[in-house]
Amino acid sequence: MFGVVPKTLWSKHQTSDELNRVEAGFNCFVVEGAGQRILIETGGGVRHDERALERMGVARPVHAADALANHGFEPESIDIVINTHLHWDHCGGNTVDDHGHTRAAFPRARYLTQRGELMHAREQNPRDAVSYRAVNYEPLLEAGQLHLLDGDFDIAPGIHVQVTPGHNRDMMVVLVRSNGETWCHLADIAPYAAHVTPTWVAAFDLYPLETIASKNDLFSRAASERWWCSFAHDLKVSFARIESRGGKFSIAAAR
Ligand SMILES: [Zn+2]
Repeated sequence: MFGVVPKTLWSKHQTSDELNRVEAGFNCFVVEGAGQRILIETGGGVRHDERALERMGVARPVHAADALANHGFEPESIDIVINTHLHWDHCGGNTVDDHGHTRAAFPRARYLTQRGELMHAREQNPRDAVSYRAVNYEPLLEAGQLHLLDGDFDIAPGIHVQVTPGHNRDMMVVLVRSNGETWCHLADIAPYAAHVTPTWVAAFDLYPLETIASKNDLFSRAASERWWCSFAHDLKVSFARIESRGGKFSIAAAR
């Protein structure tokens, strides 16, 4: 998660267990507005074998559709699903297996991701092929439920996705504006609040220099416009403000 950053530094922000594992959330968000209910990300899903669960330290995985239903958001009520990218930990809850058939977990929803991301997923490059599982997106494409975007896009009034290279080429951040406030879901451009230092880049990132450039750009805007920001995998920080002092970024307030 922290790439070349020495553990002596990152361990001040994130605890780890005896196997060097850090706690990770599969953070998903529901946005309501303009008559639409929008789900950002669908988590890691439930299709994991015993070995994988053991390795991840997950006792009982929960499908995003069930987690949402437990909070009063029925799967049928979701109008749009945004997958910032197609790594399994962001779209693993896109589909469900139903009597030998794979279908959309959110049956009425239009799913959105970047066309370039799907093309990259299908390339199955050895560097990151393990992150892409066709079951999370191909059945949706066949069903006509996966819509492919070609760059930045206004999803609904006040809800915008922006291609932000670094983690990979086509990952999107999500910008939501309401009542004069802006919230930016940074997704994996900053998996934890501790990644507020632009050079703290996860080892997963395909283009680390672009991650640094993307973070400098986004964090400058976040600081000057007082955005709330969220992170793909931070379990403790749901929303944070970023401030800029003497060319350094830090977390100013967190919820
Ligand atoms: Zn991720």
